[in-house]
Amino acid sequence: MSDVKLQAIKKNYGKVEVIKGVDLEIKKGEFIVFVGPSGCGKSTLLRTIAGLEEITDGKLYIDGVEVNDVPASNRGIAMVFQSYALYPHLSVYDNMAFALSIAKVKISEIDKAVRSAADILQLTPYLERLPRDLSGGQRQRVAIGRAIVRQPKVFLFDEPLSNLDAALRVSTRIEIAKLKQSMPDTTMVYVTHDQVEAMTLADRIVVLSEGHIEQVGSPLELYNRPKNRFVAEFIGSPKMNLVSAKITDGMLNVEGSKGSLKVDCKEENVFFGIRPEHLVLCDENDAILSGVLEVKEELGEYTLAHFKGNEGSALVAKPIISPSQKPGDMIHFKCDVKNIHLFDAKTELRL
Ligand code: ADP
Ligand code: MG
Repeated sequence: MSDVKLQAIKKNYGKVEVIKGVDLEIKKGEFIVFVGPSGCGKSTLLRTIAGLEEITDGKLYIDGVEVNDVPASNRGIAMVFQSYALYPHLSVYDNMAFALSIAKVKISEIDKAVRSAADILQLTPYLERLPRDLSGGQRQRVAIGRAIVRQPKVFLFDEPLSNLDAALRVSTRIEIAKLKQSMPDTTMVYVTHDQVEAMTLADRIVVLSEGHIEQVGSPLELYNRPKNRFVAEFIGSPKMNLVSAKITDGMLNVEGSKGSLKVDCKEENVFFGIRPEHLVLCDENDAILSGVLEVKEELGEYTLAHFKGNEGSALVAKPIISPSQKPGDMIHFKCDVKNIHLFDAKTELRL
């Protein structure tokens, strides 16, 4: 069990600042997910923890000990990459045993470690196979197994599922969730650009953008109370609807819609946010958002109504009953004030 502390971590490549001062305390046994758009610095931050990148400024602690100058091999960390990087000529068993053999661990201990990892990852039937005779999901599990046998203090994953097709991504994601449950003492840091993976796996999510932290919190904290517009739009699928709105005498109104909503907010110009599942079909006069229905996606379990809001933006609703309107018809939605999110028009911070 280890904790990891990042203190004002910066990483530059030449003059380019990629990580711009990150402070974060990761608790023992915690599953932390770094999420953010491509290029925001997730891998770089993970690699600085691993010791694969030198830290430009700031301090990194593992179990209270500063490790800025400790080489990767001595940090007690194992990392799983997006590309599985297995040895093609070695069996599953030998791939998993490799690091321990190099470290001259006793054969009986290696055997125990490999079989236990294979058991956790349901790889026992495949131990004699070569990687080429495995599916992508199985290969990724071997790569994870190779990391488990080393009994790392901290487990790092960099987008381990992104090379898998959609169905395998879901099943391997569940394997990782089970792995976490079977190793409750191991601290894990997991990088993904996929907010569904972040929501389903994390104890706490760290939302990154352009080399800094936007918000840290449990999945539901981020979903229910995003600190700013960026997090509001990033977490949740389909995305939160966000439109400009005006508040006059405590009544919020969106241009082009007839209804208004009594709100407790002193600002005049705001971004009004509402999640698709919180929009309810209604009559024109009550509508807080009105627009033209563009596409109705009937997904069986629910319907998504994509519409062009009268104020100009592309919006989406997930009404409880499928709307009767056809593409091209006007469509109207209201919402409960307890479900709305308001952000400052200038700072984009939650109000
Ligand atoms: P992410 O994993 O979030 O997609 P990365 O951490 O890989 O993002 O990259 C963050 C930024 O740092 C990107 O703009 C990328 O181009 C830049 N970068 C990454 N590695 C290097 C490098 N070795 N030299 C210069 N720039 C780099
Ligand atoms: Mg990356």
